[in-house]
Amino acid sequence: MERRYPPVWAEQWDRVGLVLGEPQAPVHRVLCVVDCVPETVAEALAAGVDLIVAHHPLLLRGVSSVAPTTYKGRIVHQLIKNDIALHVAHTNADVASPGVSDALAARLGLTDLRPLRPPAPGSPAAGEGRGIGRVGRLPQPMTLAALTVHAAAVLPATAWGVRAAGDPGRMIATVAVSGGAGDSYLEDATAAGADAFLTADLRHHPAGEHLAAGGPALLDAAHWATERPWLDDLASQLRDGVGVETIVSDLDTDPWTLHAGSRPAGSADASTPKESRS
Ligand SMILES: [Zn+2]
Repeated sequence: MERRYPPVWAEQWDRVGLVLGEPQAPVHRVLCVVDCVPETVAEALAAGVDLIVAHHPLLLRGVSSVAPTTYKGRIVHQLIKNDIALHVAHTNADVASPGVSDALAARLGLTDLRPLRPPAPGSPAAGEGRGIGRVGRLPQPMTLAALTVHAAAVLPATAWGVRAAGDPGRMIATVAVSGGAGDSYLEDATAAGADAFLTADLRHHPAGEHLAAGGPALLDAAHWATERPWLDDLASQLRDGVGVETIVSDLDTDPWTLHAGSRPAGSADASTPKESRS
């Protein structure tokens, strides 16, 4: 893991690498997850794995207790008691090549990939196509409306689906993608000459101001769905690289579990109850 995703490539604020587990313990079976949460820990227990590799850090901020009476302490206890190690590859896997956004770009069918934001020159991660996000070309240009439907079809299914911002008829040829929360790469997507930018966790004001300034159309997918594609790549690297058995978790750990579309404009007033048919 550290050869493929050196911890030194991670952002300064990030916390990656071995979280718990004996470095000398043998590993036969690995579960790959986006989030190490009670639901995926239950999967790990049921599957009898020796190691969980997670994308998101379990312990990002300082902790003064891992008492089992706390949410994360319970997870730590369950893992240690059951001899399951935990390793995290987060922004070091984002910046790697291939990395998290390569798998996302591949789902969309993008080619001629280049980094959306290359590491600063001289930083440990600089070089060889590395960087956060990817920019590439669709096999054929399509409208934003068609790209939104395409993205929802090729990304892992979630309640959230995919929403988009911009002219539905806008033709899209070049697409920027960034797995996870991509608010801070809006200007990079504009600078890259992308026609559209697909990411997650976009917000009202940054998105609105970005579009008003003439930036690329925006596609906002579920955070989990933008990072889940990478797990297949991770699993095949572990299988082929070190010969362990791998399982990829398809458990949707996105917090959003329901979605209801609003009534189309001009439809009956929602406040007026329909007469029941007898
Ligand atoms: Zn993420």
